Amino acid sequence: MYKELNTSVCTLMTPGPVEVEPRVLRAMCTPILGQFDPEFTEIMNQTMEMLRRVFQTKNQWAFPIDGTSRAGIEAVLSSIIEPGDRVLIPVYGRFGHLLMEIAERYGADVATIETDWGQVFDPQVVIQEIRRVKPKIVAMVHGETSTGCMQPLKEIGEACRELDILFVVDAVATIGGTAVEVDEWKIDAAIGGTQKCLSVPSGMAPITFNSRIEAVVLERKKVERGLVDPSEQNKKQVRMIRSNYFDLAQLMDYWSPVRLNHHTEATSMLYALREGLRIVLEEGLEARFARHKLHEKALVRGIQAMGLKIYGDPHCKLPVVTSITIPDGIDGESVRRMLLQDFQIEIASSFGPLKGKIWRIGSMGYSCRKKNVLHVLGALEAVLIRHKAKVCAGEAVQAALDVYQNEE
Ligand SMILES: *Cc1c(COP(=O)(O)O)cnc(C)c1O
Repeated sequence: MYKELNTSVCTLMTPGPVEVEPRVLRAMCTPILGQFDPEFTEIMNQTMEMLRRVFQTKNQWAFPIDGTSRAGIEAVLSSIIEPGDRVLIPVYGRFGHLLMEIAERYGADVATIETDWGQVFDPQVVIQEIRRVKPKIVAMVHGETSTGCMQPLKEIGEACRELDILFVVDAVATIGGTAVEVDEWKIDAAIGGTQKCLSVPSGMAPITFNSRIEAVVLERKKVERGLVDPSEQNKKQVRMIRSNYFDLAQLMDYWSPVRLNHHTEATSMLYALREGLRIVLEEGLEARFARHKLHEKALVRGIQAMGLKIYGDPHCKLPVVTSITIPDGIDGESVRRMLLQDFQIEIASSFGPLKGKIWRIGSMGYSCRKKNVLHVLGALEAVLIRHKAKVCAGEAVQAALDVYQNEE
């Protein structure tokens, strides 16, 4: 028969999902409340308040979309894209392609520029393209988990604002692990993830957006309700693509004091997100980002001391994901399998052109701690020796310990 669930306790060092904060797991056992119970709506309001602080924004709108991170991306893009709208998507890894795919499905006329994986864009190159393409929306990834690179956004955001273009950012991998300054960088809508640096299970996507996005959404709602007379062609197109679940107009009514029923809130996930955000704010954003930098440094020094190479341009390294070039002649999947089977440690491979070429080690949220960094370095060294790779035995953990000794 089926036994009671009793899963292994794994060391999760992937770029998501990562280990969940024990306090978050406990919060998920909290009894269910009705979704219009004032006790519950107060929890909704508190979650919105804390999200504003984590996104570093004064936006009124900051709430989770129920669904994984791509649900957040889809809610934002589907609510502002009308068929035929031009959307510029600069791509430097797999998740840029996800933005393209979602925008295309909602009928956008997508323009892209691509740069080599392992690099990011010079902001001036993106701005030049914005001036040439003149899109309604620019959508970009902040932290590309597929390559381990992070795109500077401030200059691009400022250019978009100046040209009255909407700037949408996938900050799924970065929120809670490194700064995401929504207002300062002139981001109009940002999407975060729970199962990465917030250390909450997968299943919700916190988003925030400003009045510029709200205006587009509300204008569209008027057209849809026939309050404004659209051209015949528009009418047909509006009818063609309209998500109910991801409709930000309805979700605003649901997350505001109007409390119009939309979906049934994912109660236990909201408890989890609230507790995850409480932990982030208790630690403090700056201290939390510094913690991620410290463990990244120890991990990188350890990997290098072992004789392995970090993949990607170091100037744009994403602090919460470390990509490692798989040494020649080594079967990357066999190494990952042994790490999991013998050490119960999970690290990631990558996608597309990087498949079989790099490993990716996440150091995110609760997974980002000394025990895990030392554990993964020691185990990786042992497994590589087992695979007859040439490594500098005994150096990796020592190099990481040096970092901790000097900087703690
Ligand atoms: C993980 C990730 C996503 C997708 O998240 P899901 O929760 O799997 O939908 C999107 N963008 C980036 C940058 C990510 O790292």
